[in-house]
Amino acid sequence: MRDKAIKWVIIFGLLAIVGILLFQVYWVVNNWQDNQEEKEQRINIALRKTAEGLHAYSKTDHPDEELITRRSSNYYIVNINDVIDANILEFFLINELNKVGLSLDFEYAIYDCDRDQMVYGNYCNISDSPAKPSAELPKYDKFEYYFGVRFPQLRSSILGDMPMTIILSAILILTLTFFTLTIYIILHQQRFSALQKEFINNMTHEFKTPLSSIRIGADTFLSSPELRGNARLNKYARIIKDQADRLNMHVEKILDVARLEKDQFKLKFEKIDLYHLIEQTHERFVPIVEEQGGVLDLIMPEPSEWLMVKADLMHSTNIIHNLLDNALKYGGKPPELLIHVIDNKNAIEIHIKDNGNGLSKTEISQIFNKFYRSAKGNIHDIKGFGLGLYYVKQIVKLQNWTVRVESEQGIGSNFILSIPKV
Ligand code: ADP
Repeated sequence: MRDKAIKWVIIFGLLAIVGILLFQVYWVVNNWQDNQEEKEQRINIALRKTAEGLHAYSKTDHPDEELITRRSSNYYIVNINDVIDANILEFFLINELNKVGLSLDFEYAIYDCDRDQMVYGNYCNISDSPAKPSAELPKYDKFEYYFGVRFPQLRSSILGDMPMTIILSAILILTLTFFTLTIYIILHQQRFSALQKEFINNMTHEFKTPLSSIRIGADTFLSSPELRGNARLNKYARIIKDQADRLNMHVEKILDVARLEKDQFKLKFEKIDLYHLIEQTHERFVPIVEEQGGVLDLIMPEPSEWLMVKADLMHSTNIIHNLLDNALKYGGKPPELLIHVIDNKNAIEIHIKDNGNGLSKTEISQIFNKFYRSAKGNIHDIKGFGLGLYYVKQIVKLQNWTVRVESEQGIGSNFILSIPKV
């Protein structure tokens, strides 16, 4: 994926994460508040009914001031006009809380105005979960006769009433963690791949200068009359030249791919004669194939106007070279190769066939990927960078051509270039 595309994926990904998180927080808070309000309403009803019960019992009137005061999230004060009996209060509390369907533990204390302190009543364990009594309940100086009730499990019971919210939030947090981790890995990989590209680029550029010096040196050496007379020195000078040329070809290949990726690649479209290009390539490869005891056949129609196409000469030559190089490398021993040019209605097809081991379907789907080398390549100890077919694919795309492979395992492969007619 291109760097820009990755950047946008990450930006949209992060925006999506923030958006989903905000929505989730809003939803959880809303859900919590609804539950809390609903519980508070029921507590208020139960406490009001308890107060009414106490007044009816002692035959007194309601106080004029506010009846119920919420002192904290789970502590309530109830204002009463008379002395309170703990047993009767507990009876009413249990009864009224039960009526509104609240099976929460609660503890209560009654204010003793003589001693000016809260006298602890009882911890009523309704829910059967372990009791959590507090040391004392705080008093409230505003009233004279009152009692306080605390619900230690109020928060946990609100949470308990929203299981779906909790489960969905947990799933969401897990998904978002996974997504964030993926983004982190992508960023890490991107940085690593950028460093790798830069390193390869710098390294190959550094190779170029000494390589051209060696090639110039070898050329001068080979053309000197003294050397021509000395067979042994001549042989070594040729080896230096050949190896330097090979190394230069590899460096060029890597640089070409690097340029392709940097979008610095400009094709020079011109009218090229495929007939000549293929004939020349064939002539160049025949001695190499024959050296290995093989054959390289060519079937091509007579030169004609339809074999003239608009393309980049150098890169078109390179891709046909790459395919033939591969046919030779991965073909049978001895190689039996064929270049077959076919007039296929609207397209010219160049078939490059070999008699190698062939490729599996999985391999075919991957061979045009950068750095891909099938395991067989290594088994036969055939060296390469896995860049040749990647380069072919990119050039073919830029020229509006196509490339496909037909292969049968144990029989051979056929790489087909399809070139639209102009
Ligand atoms: P390289 O040859 O440097 O490994 P390529 O990109 O040219 O890189 O090829 C990628 C892989 O595709 C090779 O490693 C090889 O496994 C497979 N391949 C390419 N051409 C052929 C072929 N003609 N027959 C069988 N396998 C091939």
